[in-house]
Amino acid sequence: MASKLLLITFAICRLLSTVGFTMDPLARVTGHVQLSSDPDDLEAASRDFGGMSRAKPLAVLHPASAEDVVSVVRAGSAHGFTVSARGHGHSINGQAQVGRNGRNGVVIDMSGPKGRRFRDVFTKPVLGKMINRSGASYYVDVWGGELWIDVLKWSLDEHGLAPKSWTDYLYLSVGGTLSNAGISGQAFHHGPQTSNVYELDVVTGKGELLTCSEEKNSELFHGVLGGLGQFGIITRARIALEPAPQRVKWVRVLYSNFSAFTKDQEYLISLRGGASSERFDYVEGFIIVDEGLINNWRSSFFSPRNPVNLTSIGAHGVFYCLEVTKNYDESTADMVDQVVETLLKKLDFIPSSVFTTDVTYLDFLDRVHKAELKLRAKNLWHVPHPWLNLFVPKSQISKFNDGVFKGMLAGNKTSGPILLYPMNRNKWDHRSSVVTPDEEVFYLVALLRSATQEGPHTLDNLRDQNRRILQFCEESGIKVKRYLPDYSTQDEWKGHFGEKWESFKEMKMKFDPYHILAVGQRIFRPSFTSHGIFDW
Ligand code: FAD
Repeated sequence: MASKLLLITFAICRLLSTVGFTMDPLARVTGHVQLSSDPDDLEAASRDFGGMSRAKPLAVLHPASAEDVVSVVRAGSAHGFTVSARGHGHSINGQAQVGRNGRNGVVIDMSGPKGRRFRDVFTKPVLGKMINRSGASYYVDVWGGELWIDVLKWSLDEHGLAPKSWTDYLYLSVGGTLSNAGISGQAFHHGPQTSNVYELDVVTGKGELLTCSEEKNSELFHGVLGGLGQFGIITRARIALEPAPQRVKWVRVLYSNFSAFTKDQEYLISLRGGASSERFDYVEGFIIVDEGLINNWRSSFFSPRNPVNLTSIGAHGVFYCLEVTKNYDESTADMVDQVVETLLKKLDFIPSSVFTTDVTYLDFLDRVHKAELKLRAKNLWHVPHPWLNLFVPKSQISKFNDGVFKGMLAGNKTSGPILLYPMNRNKWDHRSSVVTPDEEVFYLVALLRSATQEGPHTLDNLRDQNRRILQFCEESGIKVKRYLPDYSTQDEWKGHFGEKWESFKEMKMKFDPYHILAVGQRIFRPSFTSHGIFDW
């Protein structure tokens, strides 16, 4: 124990002396770059949305440019300390931290310079236009730490354009979601966000600032997309845009029959690529295991004056809600109801369960923020979130329903939304680092739980339930892949990446040979530490 302490002290002293900073918050790595050791900054960087792991960094960098990122990464690789980019800290299991128990390195807070307005330092996003065989298409260049909500507001307000592929929640950073995949109900048609980016600027683990795309440094480009921050820090992303609709017809319908529900979802996503008037723009779904909440889920979508009456529907147990939208603007406003009606007629939901609302495009995309504000007001936002996100192959989703939704969860009070929707694998670029099941259609199952201090949903209980769900999948031969994965041994990561593992490892050696980046993912230990020193 004493020798362990000595080694830790030595490692910290080495870090402090070699990069030339002291605990003085104004100390410098090189020249102009200032690292902060302000206790508030360290505290903020040591936490995340999951609220389950904490690791205090030695210092925090609030970069004002890609060059600032380069300086710190170069110092890290030259002098042996780790560097983790933090987008908006919305990871669940410490993925944006510097290592769970150690003051091992520097967090780069990509949200920008402290005490100054983001826009005073970073230029506005820059609009661009490309001409290719299918005509002109627009894109926007943004800083890697830009939040999606800001990308949306800027492109909508200034140009009437918007990115094509989304996450349900927009207060996430561009670099953070591109390091995972970035999915929502548009993914069946457009693919994940990683399939809708043309070019990146990346600071590799060696401190090189490289531009990469399909054509240029393509190995790095594909590796970084879905690469869990392992090969470099994204400082700029070129994101595909499309003309933004003005409004959205937003429809929810209920099912009590699981196979009717999944058959309809699969039918709707098979319409990908079709004419806009012949498909929905967004297809999602969620599970209601707690009948008491059927009128009270996630937003004020269901009018309280018009509650769903389960007795009149004649159904009970687990319910499945299909959620779809159709975008429109002035030129298509007179057709939109007809398009929605025609598509709904092909589906097999409970007839009296159609709920429709009509909102602006911005309000639709920013819908989860409303729920966030409500939870914040009740002090329920900063609670532990033992989330579990799984990709389940289509052929095994029914078995999953029987064992998990009906078997383990039915009748229980809910601890948060449970999303369920399918996606088309051919919309995902398999050269990227993202891992999906092998089948052409697979489902996202997202158990988005919030833990309470007492009652059935304590952190321990929910974690235990997550373990039992994974165990059930293993024992039943359901070949799930985890989204936003959280493993801690290299064998587990090897199993996760499957056939991509060898090339993933090779890219790590090439772009981050000392393994200094994103150690919070717990994939590769830094090469300058032994197991004894670096504790994650
Ligand atoms: P962080 O948590 O800060 O970082 C995540 C990982 O990426 C870390 O390893 C970090 O080191 C690395 N990283 C961060 N920035 C960069 C960068 N610029 N370059 C390289 N690596 C970087 N995901 C979906 O796909 N769809 C959803 O609908 C969705 N909804 C969500 C709703 C909520 C309320 C929350 C909390 C999360 C949701 N997520 C969703 C998950 C989200 O995509 C991840 O949390 C993701 O990590 C983005 O969050 P962040 O920007 O805060 O990244």
